[in-house]
This record gives sequence, structure tokens and C-alpha cells, in this order.
Amino acid sequence: MNKEIENLSPRQEEIEESVLEKLDQVETIEEGIKVDEEYFSGISDTIAEIQEEVDAIEAKNKGEIEKLEKQIEALLIEIPNDFKPMYDKVREKYRFNSPITKLTGTACAKCRMQISSAEAGEINNSFQHRICSGCGRIIISNQVS
Ligand SMILES: [Zn+2]
Repeated sequence: MNKEIENLSPRQEEIEESVLEKLDQVETIEEGIKVDEEYFSGISDTIAEIQEEVDAIEAKNKGEIEKLEKQIEALLIEIPNDFKPMYDKVREKYRFNSPITKLTGTACAKCRMQISSAEAGEINNSFQHRICSGCGRIIISNQVS
């Protein structure tokens, strides 16, 4: 019996030591987690701040966009009636990408599609317009400013 206890004693010490070592490791890891938590809470604060700024910018731009939309609406009313259905159709496709383009020589300034010099003359001299057969934009005289 005594012999057995003598044998087990060092083993127990060994286990105790290993438990202490593990507890040390747990403490180190917990410290690391705390540091990470502080770090991430800092990041999340920063994200919240940026979000606030973005919200403010969005709110401001929304107001400006609405103002511009109203101006556009007013300008659309001024477009001659015979021109409007065609303009609306082209605007659907090129709303933010120059629905109207000028002639460059005898070519569409946007896609470079050539038209006949007779057609170019009509556009330039009698201020007519044409739908470009290349890109579908409205081509107007290059003498319009
Ligand atoms: Zn074109």
C-alpha cells in the first residue's frame, strides 16, 4: 500500500503541474481575447461613426437629387411635344449617358456611325434631328450650343 502511494505521488505532482500550466495558458488566452474584444469594439465604434457620416451624406444627396429631379421634370415639360416621345424613348436607354449627341463632321459624336452628307446637311442647316442608326441616340446639329 505504501509503495503504491509512493509511486502515485510523483504522478500526482506531474498532473498538478500540468494543470497549473494549462491554467496559465487559459489566462494568457483570456488576456488575448480581452485585447481583441477591445480592438473590435474600437472598430465597431469606428464603423458606427462612418455609418453616421454616410447617412448624413445620403440624406443631403437625397435632397439634392430630389431638387435636380424636379428641375429635370420642369425641363422635360419644355421639350416640344412632337419631339418628346422620341426623347423619352432614347432617355430610357441613355438616361445618364448623353441621350442627345452632336454631329462630328458627318458622324455621330458618340459612336462614330457615319450618315450621308445630305442627311448631315439637313441636320446642320435646318436644325432637324435624326436617331443614330449606330447607337440610337438623337443626333442634333453641331451648331447648337
Ligand atoms: Zn451613334
